[in-house]
Amino acid sequence: MGVVTLEQLVDWLSRFRDLVTTNQAQLTELDSAIGDADHGSNMARGMNAVMDKLGEPTAIDQLFTTVGMTLVSSVGGASGPLYGTFFLRFGTTVGAETSIDGEALSAALRAGLAGIEARGKAEVGDKTMVDALVPALGALDASLASSDDASAAAEAAFHAAERGRDATEPLVARKGRASYLGDRSAGHVDPGATSTAYLFQALAGALGGETG
Ligand code: ADP
Ligand code: MG
Repeated sequence: MGVVTLEQLVDWLSRFRDLVTTNQAQLTELDSAIGDADHGSNMARGMNAVMDKLGEPTAIDQLFTTVGMTLVSSVGGASGPLYGTFFLRFGTTVGAETSIDGEALSAALRAGLAGIEARGKAEVGDKTMVDALVPALGALDASLASSDDASAAAEAAFHAAERGRDATEPLVARKGRASYLGDRSAGHVDPGATSTAYLFQALAGALGGETG
């Protein structure tokens, strides 16, 4: 129950690719309201490049080094380096393992978040992907504290990410392109928080929760 395998992490990435490609038009639509209408194509191009590059990974750090470097090099927008940093930190935090427990999963995700925060300097309330990530990781840890079930924890993280995503709607953006709009950025859901909710939906699906 508590163990997450290399195969499940590959499945996480595959499901994330499927979600961002299936919902590419929605992500682009959200970014056309408060950005430059490329978040859908950025994420789809980036995750397709990732899945093409994966090959047969032998360890978690090796897998996520490939993922991170591919995203940084194939996505021009802000989201490429931010998601790229997230996955690079995730991998180096785990190391050369082929499976991890819930605690190690949490530590790796937290290191990824710290990488995004160091690079983008956004805080909760700035209307970015951080608004979905922070509550997701809070819910993941709260769930792991009550039971060592990575699947249930990922499911809780997904639902918290969705709430964090929805909470970006009334906010005025203080980071990224949307911040150029000032008050006019209010009234729209943040595209990056939306793709981050898909990231946790994909994780919950890969870990065998009710979310497919
Ligand atoms: P770009 O803004 O360069 O066109 P994308 O459209 O792919 O890149 O991604 C936009 C998303 O990136 C935003 O919706 C926001 O969630 C996220 N983002 C932008 N700047 C930052 C930042 N400094 N920190 C965290 N996330 C950010
Ligand atoms: Mg954009």
